[in-house]
Amino acid sequence: MDIILKQVRLENNEDLVDVAINDGKIVKIEKEITESASKEIEANGKVLIPGLIEAHLHLDKALIADRKPNKSGTLKEAIEVTGELKPTFTNEDIEKRAKATLDMLIKHGVTYVRTQSEFDPSGGFGGFETIMKLKEEYKDVIDIQVAAFPQEGIIKAPGTLDMMHKAMEMGADAVGGIPYNDTDANEHIDIVFELAKKYNKPVDLHQDFMDDYEGSSIEYLCEKTIKEGFEGKVSVGHLTSLGALSKEKLDKVIKDMAKAKINVFSLPATDLHLGGRNDEYNVRRGLTPVRALRDGGVNVGIATNNIRNPFTPYGNGDIIQTAMLAIPTAHLGGADDLPTVLDMITKSPAKALGIEDYGIKVGNSANMVLLDTQEIDKAIIDLPVRLYVIKDGKITVETTKEVKTFY
Ligand SMILES: [Zn+2]
Repeated sequence: MDIILKQVRLENNEDLVDVAINDGKIVKIEKEITESASKEIEANGKVLIPGLIEAHLHLDKALIADRKPNKSGTLKEAIEVTGELKPTFTNEDIEKRAKATLDMLIKHGVTYVRTQSEFDPSGGFGGFETIMKLKEEYKDVIDIQVAAFPQEGIIKAPGTLDMMHKAMEMGADAVGGIPYNDTDANEHIDIVFELAKKYNKPVDLHQDFMDDYEGSSIEYLCEKTIKEGFEGKVSVGHLTSLGALSKEKLDKVIKDMAKAKINVFSLPATDLHLGGRNDEYNVRRGLTPVRALRDGGVNVGIATNNIRNPFTPYGNGDIIQTAMLAIPTAHLGGADDLPTVLDMITKSPAKALGIEDYGIKVGNSANMVLLDTQEIDKAIIDLPVRLYVIKDGKITVETTKEVKTFY
């Protein structure tokens, strides 16, 4: 055996087990494995979870907050400031920042990331090519899925559609889109589906990032998804517009979404920062209603979106910290809600991203994180140290920080 983790906790209130890894795969999960291994890790009842998933992240525009601040904190200024900075990005600059960001994720136990990689006719294709190169370069430590993202719109930025085709031909994993930032949201959605059908790839949209429901295209997206037989293959980020709906109307939209099997990612780090900026009192939280979506049978997850840029001036690449942020703000701290949060950065995004052999089961790829906590329900609120990160059967991270106390 390559690695045996001794006495790990996989679920609450169950017996501890040993997990054996060989040749990149999980080969045995038993109460006691007596064989020897090149590396044995004494877990002593600590929690072992599958590799964490960061399902929506912009690597290409991370770590630029110091270059020009977004003083108002609005989405409008975030787009303007980023638009001013983008022409100054070189491929080397993008590569350096993206690598630094990937290192932040990897150290925090993220073994899968879907990144939104953008391009537009004035900015060119260098950034996208750089991210595609990193996808290959990092494949042994983190699986990178790339969504081809037309940040400036498709119809209103002529030339972008050709670039979308080119990005898909170059091997993008998902067709991105941003219906709310184009001249006609429904037409934008139609174009995205044409691409998705042609290249047989899933859809991943920036959807309805707004404080009010007016102008929302989620209902059209549900109809279109069913019409094209794309159930389960469409993911959306933000969807903050749903936060503005009365229960009656919300229930109807959620029913449509469950039927179309739309996957939703709440992006609290960005949404809380940019949302509700025009409210002078009773400021809205500006989040998609995570609990109502979950309870309505929608596959809902949590992701980070941006790290240290005009959209989100903080973040350290720790998806557990992003999930922690969602606990108070999306009212996920109740006794029945808290145990559902870990799934939102593990199982739910695995389903949305189509990761087939996900989870700690015999035969699956050995992607996992040993947490310095004894209870799986506290895996988020303990903000536990990631003691070991294992990707395809190899240890990629070991954290040995020692805390000394003198009392
Ligand atoms: Zn985004």
